[in-house]
Amino acid sequence: MEWHIIPTGRVWVDPGGALGLVPRPLWIEHQPVDEHHRTPMDLNSLLVFSEGKTILIDTGMGHKLPKKAIKNWGLEWPEGTLIENLGAHGLSPDDIDIVIDTHLHSDHCGGNTYIDGNGILPTFPKAEYLVQRMEFADAYHPDARTSGTYLAENYVPLWKEGRLKFLHGDTQITKTVRTVLTRGHTRGHQSVILSDSKTPPVMFVSDLASYAVHFARKAWVTAYDIEPLETIKTKKKWQKWALENSAILIFQHDTHIRQGHLVVNPKGKKEIEVLQSGSLEYDH
Ligand SMILES: [Zn+2]
Repeated sequence: MEWHIIPTGRVWVDPGGALGLVPRPLWIEHQPVDEHHRTPMDLNSLLVFSEGKTILIDTGMGHKLPKKAIKNWGLEWPEGTLIENLGAHGLSPDDIDIVIDTHLHSDHCGGNTYIDGNGILPTFPKAEYLVQRMEFADAYHPDARTSGTYLAENYVPLWKEGRLKFLHGDTQITKTVRTVLTRGHTRGHQSVILSDSKTPPVMFVSDLASYAVHFARKAWVTAYDIEPLETIKTKKKWQKWALENSAILIFQHDTHIRQGHLVVNPKGKKEIEVLQSGSLEYDH
């Protein structure tokens, strides 16, 4: 099974969003802040080759944002753009067969489309884009709380062209790739599991755990989560699965733990054992 983490950019956000109700003295050990009290959040995608299909999971923020929004997000590309990093694997946008959107928040599907003189076009002209039906329904009708992140230009043009395929819950995409509904962050949020018989399963967690520490601590829930109590329930289920299967967990937003295992330490506390460090050095 071949897969690669694909950096698409980094943003700098107010920790109140990602850390929610967790008191600062607890999270500061895990999460650095800069002089403006912002904390970094990577925007990584996953590239998967399975059964002759080239699959891309999530597409980052994309390049349609106005200058002011780029400044507000602190959006930067320290490891290159999505297209550049696909290029490093010898791929052009034409080579992507399937795009899986874990959900439709702008930091996950902004790269679905791009803008040129002809309007808004699919970034991956030959791809089918997969999203949960419930996620699209919620994104199509954002409310006062979600309208800042559900940006129609990232998915409505695809829907109008018949390029979105709606999933109804857990779905086997290929023999080794399946999506699982991991409700809580949004109602239609999905994570993606890669599994064959040879290696431990890999879970692209998405915002079930925005940072690695969110996966280990059930009650650490972001302020963005629409259904925080559902997140806690969902997390409990997948913590058990991760421990039982020694799963490799990919944390797409974490700048210091890119891949890890969930383990129980000698004190009986769950924590993430680092398999691959992230993009930023951080003493903690
Ligand atoms: Zn996110």
